[in-house]
Amino acid sequence: MSTVFTHIDFNQPGKQVGFAHLPLSAHNDAWGTIAMPVAVIANGEGPTLLITGAIHGDEYEGPIIINELIRTLTAGQVRGRIILLPCANTPALRASMRVSPLDNKNLARVFPGNPWGTPTEQIAAWIHDALFPLCDFYLDLHSGGSSLFIEESAQVVVTEELSPQVREQSEAMARAFGATLTVVTNNMGDPRTSCGSAANLGIPAIAAEMGWNGSISPRGVKRTRAAVERVLNHLGLIQSDPVAAEASQQVFIPPGGNLLSPGDGWFESVVDIGDVVNAGDLAGWLHRLSEPEAAPQAVRFAIGGRIYSQRTFGATAQGNSLAVLVQDLPVEEKA
Ligand SMILES: [Zn+2]
Repeated sequence: MSTVFTHIDFNQPGKQVGFAHLPLSAHNDAWGTIAMPVAVIANGEGPTLLITGAIHGDEYEGPIIINELIRTLTAGQVRGRIILLPCANTPALRASMRVSPLDNKNLARVFPGNPWGTPTEQIAAWIHDALFPLCDFYLDLHSGGSSLFIEESAQVVVTEELSPQVREQSEAMARAFGATLTVVTNNMGDPRTSCGSAANLGIPAIAAEMGWNGSISPRGVKRTRAAVERVLNHLGLIQSDPVAAEASQQVFIPPGGNLLSPGDGWFESVVDIGDVVNAGDLAGWLHRLSEPEAAPQAVRFAIGGRIYSQRTFGATAQGNSLAVLVQDLPVEEKA
């Protein structure tokens, strides 16, 4: 069920580029819509892949590369069907925000959505109810957004309903994607992301993290371009000669791996992304900058691991994530 309408017919062969419209009756626009760009490129027999960007509106490598595909891919180059949604949360993208300015909601925490809910919930319901049923595979392009430095990675989201076969297909996609890390995660037990929702429907899916800090990373754009091309080849959707993938290290986020701020202040990290630390090592100092005589508080890692993400903002509130650690997957997990 969805109130979103579009003139694009996903069942027609060829290339179509247009918009999907979500009705929104606002103060300054009684009968208006949110216009979300969407494209489909279809030709002959083959799988259907959905690629989304800007699920978070402050992450840009995905939208840049998806728009590039919309401009450059021809139907003749495709075997199967590629559905391209470069700006999934268009209001958030236009505001350069992680959450939508219309309802303050995070599109990656409201799946499977609600067709009669807030705008962000309605977008989720459209993707879940109208697009996912068309799909055999799903690729979700993210980066760290405004609050995270994060190592380049593809996340395989594991939910309780995920079958081993679907997980293996997701991990194969991650290997083809070829990011530095493949992070197997249950997203802190929250299945309400688009990838968690796809996994529950039996659709192999990965979510990539390709940049950070609300910026546009030249390396991230370049690496995203090559990684997406490899996935399209891996699924047989195109035949080209992409840059070969390097081996992706498989890791997971262990219990205790999310270092949370013990108080309010300004956090000075003494470690960097990619560093390997041990339990008890100093992570940094929590300062009370307006109280010069107050000694900063030492913040230490509870467990060891490799630093996967760090907070970008200096100002920190109690409970904020200061860093996330990953560890190698146990051998039996890789088998
Ligand atoms: Zn994101």
